[in-house]
Amino acid sequence: MKIPAIDSHAHLYFDRFDEDRQEVISRAKDSGFVGIINIGIDLETSHKVIQLAREYPGFCHAAIGLHPTHSQLEEEDYQKTLSGIESLFEENREHVVAIGEIGLDYYWKDVPPEVQDRAFRDQLKLARKLDLPVVIHCREAWSDTLDVIEQDGSDVIGVFHCFGGTVEEARRALDLGWYISFAGNVTYPKAEDLRDAAKIVPADRLLLETDSPFLAPQQVRGKRNEPVFSLHTAETLGKVRGQGLRELLEGTTENCRNLFRLTRS
Ligand SMILES: [Zn+2]
Ligand SMILES: [Zn+2]
Repeated sequence: MKIPAIDSHAHLYFDRFDEDRQEVISRAKDSGFVGIINIGIDLETSHKVIQLAREYPGFCHAAIGLHPTHSQLEEEDYQKTLSGIESLFEENREHVVAIGEIGLDYYWKDVPPEVQDRAFRDQLKLARKLDLPVVIHCREAWSDTLDVIEQDGSDVIGVFHCFGGTVEEARRALDLGWYISFAGNVTYPKAEDLRDAAKIVPADRLLLETDSPFLAPQQVRGKRNEPVFSLHTAETLGKVRGQGLRELLEGTTENCRNLFRLTRS
């Protein structure tokens, strides 16, 4: 049984895929996947996600941006990164589907919050200027992230990737009209709070992702994650939400296409 699926968040350009990247992508295609969105974390990796999109046109799509934990740069490099992201989009419009991943991360303490805040706000503005949705990375920074979006991103649309918040935080995100995406950690035995949050997300706002190579689902925990493993995540999401696997995958695929304006292939 092959059901069309999309992995809405992967980092297949990491060197952990150098040996078998093509097989990883073939495995996904053979299992019914119709798309993978690779996400950049700085200017260099934003070039890499475009490269992958060129190699697998219509299947691999690119999100380009500066990740909060990579946002501490010399002023000149920072400006070069922002303008580089903009020109990457201008030169590769058919491949770039979003600005991301951007946001706030207070778990890793190496980049001061005000530095992250600036990069986050600047890229929300860029997304608005380029008329692109955004992919949000938020770790232990819910309140500030939602505040920034409410202040500077009210007319931008996006997804909270690898959702790690509470039911209340999910409600605030949904009130903005945004999407919520779950990764393999929703399958972990102790992640009861994540499954509670997954229950309240409306069917038309839910996305599926791996965050490959990280966060392999419980069934393959400890392994390098890859797009096909998100079928385990989909099964868990379906169970807690009272949806069958087909309904869950069809829904998340349709939502992903809507958010990132993917054409059907
Ligand atoms: Zn992230
Ligand atoms: Zn990521």
